[in-house]
Amino acid sequence: MDLKNLKINSKFQAPPSNVVCRRSWKLVFGALLFCFVTSGCVSLKPHPVSQPIASKPYRGVYHVHSSFSPDSKASLPTIIRTAKQAGLDFVIVTDRNNHSAAAAYEKMKINESDPKLFFGVEVTTSDGHLTALGIPSTPEKGKPSQSTIDGIHEQGGYALIAHPASIERPWTHWDVKNFDGLEIYNFKYASQQNAGMSKAFQKMFSSSNFFLKSLLKTPYTELTIWDRLLKERKVIGVAAVDAQISKSWKSFSDGNFLMQFQAVTLYALADELKEKSVLDAVGKGRTFMAFEVFGSARDFSFTVQDGSNVQAAGSEVSFKEGMDFQVKVPGEAEIRLIRDGQIVQRIQSRDMMHKIQAKGTYRVEVYRKGKLWIFTNPIWIS
Ligand SMILES: [Zn+2]
Repeated sequence: MDLKNLKINSKFQAPPSNVVCRRSWKLVFGALLFCFVTSGCVSLKPHPVSQPIASKPYRGVYHVHSSFSPDSKASLPTIIRTAKQAGLDFVIVTDRNNHSAAAAYEKMKINESDPKLFFGVEVTTSDGHLTALGIPSTPEKGKPSQSTIDGIHEQGGYALIAHPASIERPWTHWDVKNFDGLEIYNFKYASQQNAGMSKAFQKMFSSSNFFLKSLLKTPYTELTIWDRLLKERKVIGVAAVDAQISKSWKSFSDGNFLMQFQAVTLYALADELKEKSVLDAVGKGRTFMAFEVFGSARDFSFTVQDGSNVQAAGSEVSFKEGMDFQVKVPGEAEIRLIRDGQIVQRIQSRDMMHKIQAKGTYRVEVYRKGKLWIFTNPIWIS
């Protein structure tokens, strides 16, 4: 893929004018029931037909560096404590070129109620950084990316390109085959690229919400790269905090570890809150991501009914006449349904229904006040 020829897709195609949101009492009732059950207010066993493949989205952050990484001073207890403050279910730690934190975590005494730490590794290749999930040993650093990706797959893991469009450490080899996904957003690099004002803002304002809102920019470049890749094959997207307590006094990130954990959230549609289940959900795209300074995304859903099953992001579903997508958003916002890189429906609402008329790769973006709030991995209709 030639990055120089990328056009930023900021002008989207308008939705067909005859498309309207159909809001019926059934939908409203369904949404209320879903919120009630998933919020834990009741202990009812959900009916399988009315639930997505994974009934509970676990809330976490992806790509955090611990003190076992050469670039961070964040101890494992600090990460757990900060995750608890941020109300997270899990943190995916990806230290640079080593898995030592995983072994140290196994020896720690952990409270059952604490957020869980799961482990991948960020590998330095000759073409940029890759995060590897779900492998027991660390790939050798400095090797060409293709052999590193192949090695990760041989161990049964997932290879995701880190901060692909960052100015400092961009991905340089787009002809590489078979990587599983890429970071659509990386808070560390995105904030550094706006660093002109950011340090001054950070000092001036005590509200991290105000600061984060001022900093966030929709990652059009990465979304465009992703849509191009999706035209060729299945590639999943992820959002990274790339959080660290830096060893460098110059770093933006010093002093506000919690704010980094609040910058962008990853919801994993996993069967259970265990490492394999959550890392599989990330690697297979059973996730949606949210900038929650614009509101909690916990009750968001993007689903399609497939016979008696309801399928969510990351699923592949065979096209049948009469199928609908359902999008439910926990507050009014601009919902965009995107098929093969083009908007096919756009609506300002809390929900959207879309009758599927063609096969394709469908994903959702949700905007508030012109800024990206939530984005999902695709549902593939084949
Ligand atoms: Zn990196």
